[in-house]
Amino acid sequence: MNSSKQAVQFRPFTRTEHAFQKLRVCKRCGQFTALWEEKCTSCGRDTLVPIEQYARLRTKRYFHKDLTVGIALLAASVFFGHSPQQMLLCGVVGALLLLPLILLQQRIVTYEQRRQLIRLFRGRIEQIQEGLNVNHKNAVALRQLSERVCYEMLREIAILIHNDRIRLQQVALLQSFVLRKDMELTLDPLLIKSFEPLMVRYIGEVARLHRELIKDRTFRYVVFYERRILEMAGGEDILVRVASAAIRKKRYVVTHAAFISRYVRKLPKERIQRLYHIIQENPLEPFGDLADEVKIMYLMEQYKN
Ligand SMILES: [Zn+2]
Repeated sequence: MNSSKQAVQFRPFTRTEHAFQKLRVCKRCGQFTALWEEKCTSCGRDTLVPIEQYARLRTKRYFHKDLTVGIALLAASVFFGHSPQQMLLCGVVGALLLLPLILLQQRIVTYEQRRQLIRLFRGRIEQIQEGLNVNHKNAVALRQLSERVCYEMLREIAILIHNDRIRLQQVALLQSFVLRKDMELTLDPLLIKSFEPLMVRYIGEVARLHRELIKDRTFRYVVFYERRILEMAGGEDILVRVASAAIRKKRYVVTHAAFISRYVRKLPKERIQRLYHIIQENPLEPFGDLADEVKIMYLMEQYKN
């Protein structure tokens, strides 16, 4: 293993139900951010609020405006009344009319908050993008100072920006750390389209530490670039590890039987046993040549013992 890799501990990553919940907006200057800074990087003020809270504030303001108009009309009707009886009547009728408005507002508050949120996204999409670009630039600028913080920032921004550039930047940074089993790693969201040795090495690390993260998209990536991976130093070991990861589910074995059969001779004994049992338990599935090959290897192993 490369000794220049740093041992790091990542700050915990908070998952949100929706990606947009990562966004905060400055109440003063309107700049958006997906990061955790306390003060707005544009105006320097302490006025960042989560986007949903901002939508709630706008809803409140919107309702207050309606209510103020209602109260003003009521006050005017009372003021312009010709006699005390008329004024009283206007006051009572006006108050009775205001009551349904207040009740209505209470009933539609959640709906109105959603509408405000959608309006915010539609109307200010450019500012949101601009804010995320500022975040991205700040993260990259920090790389010299701390690769760990740079990675943590990119990880947050990547929830909202989806492109191969930001994915590869994360993969490259991950390669400069000592990855451990207890780290919360991801693979599918980081997969890029093109062949990239850094990506392949990262897949190899994940296959070693968290093989449950190796799924269909990774198998397709690896099979697609198999020849080029074999040309890399240590490339074959990575392919063996990925083939090994495929043996955890029958479905993967069926789908990638041809791929597995190309590396079956290098698989650990315990994986061969598992593969043998999967094949034996599913006589109707088409495993092709893999079935015969595994059977021979399994029997040879039994014979040796
Ligand atoms: Zn600001």
